[in-house]
Amino acid sequence: MQPDPLLPDPLLAVRGLSVDFSGVPALSDLSFDVGPGEVLALVGESGAGKSVTARALLGMTPRGATVSGSVLLHGAPVTAADWGRRIALVPQDALSALSPVHPVGEQLALAVRSVQGLSRKDARLRARSALEEVGIPAAQSSAHSHEFSGGMRQRAVIAMAMVNRPELVVADEPTTALDPETQDKILTILRERCAATGASLVLVTHDLGAVGAHADRMAVMYAGRLAEYGPVDRILVRPLAPYTEGLLACLPTAGTPHKSRLPTIPGRPPAPGAVAAGCAFAPRCRYATGRCHTERPAPRAVDGREVACHLDHLESV
Ligand code: SF4
Repeated sequence: MQPDPLLPDPLLAVRGLSVDFSGVPALSDLSFDVGPGEVLALVGESGAGKSVTARALLGMTPRGATVSGSVLLHGAPVTAADWGRRIALVPQDALSALSPVHPVGEQLALAVRSVQGLSRKDARLRARSALEEVGIPAAQSSAHSHEFSGGMRQRAVIAMAMVNRPELVVADEPTTALDPETQDKILTILRERCAATGASLVLVTHDLGAVGAHADRMAVMYAGRLAEYGPVDRILVRPLAPYTEGLLACLPTAGTPHKSRLPTIPGRPPAPGAVAAGCAFAPRCRYATGRCHTERPAPRAVDGREVACHLDHLESV
């Protein structure tokens, strides 16, 4: 990947990131940047490698994973010491992320004390204000997580992620278990908290509507590889990678009748370890040629984004 002239000093620079499990590739040669204060969405179907990428950014890949390539924060490799301080996670499952035995406010105060070394009193005050910043009244800081609704629990894990003012927040499908209205509220809170503190956000999601509403830039992933990467307003208006085009064609439009069946991309993503030679999307791609089945397309710069595709017509965009 060439350095992006619009991002001369990215907060996060990922270069050639690959992850495999016992020789089975889960991510392959991924490169992208995240600018200061920017929201980058990682999108794609299940099995695209979005969550593995999120974990690799945090240095939290499971035991047995082999990781190569680099993840740089302000030009220096991310280390375990950055976790919870400079980089924080908003997990998908807030119920498991919060302790059932300690009051929520106490858990936040502990996180503050362990990183900032504040007194008990000051840490408690900081925890309360972090909860208020996400719309949870300070009076509820003594409640336990099981006393919260799903939306409030998700607010609490956002408060937990933001309480030490990280530079980068990684949110892994943070609203999957919530109803659509609550999902949008939670994503709005997350984005607003990041904007208020200057933090960048990497948002893992399969929801292209949320990408359009909340992200600046997007990386479309397929079978652990990058299919298309660039500004949201360009890609959503005019996708160039056939896989992105297929994903967008599955979205409902204003004229879609209620309860009608939405189109899907024919076929299924390959299982890890069963990715075809050449372009991983070739078995499902209506534009595939003989070359696509033998030669993996390298991402190339086209029309203000990166696209991994052999199609000749991309040259004339
Ligand atoms: S490289 Fe070929 S198979 Fe892959 S997306 Fe492009 S046209 Fe389709």
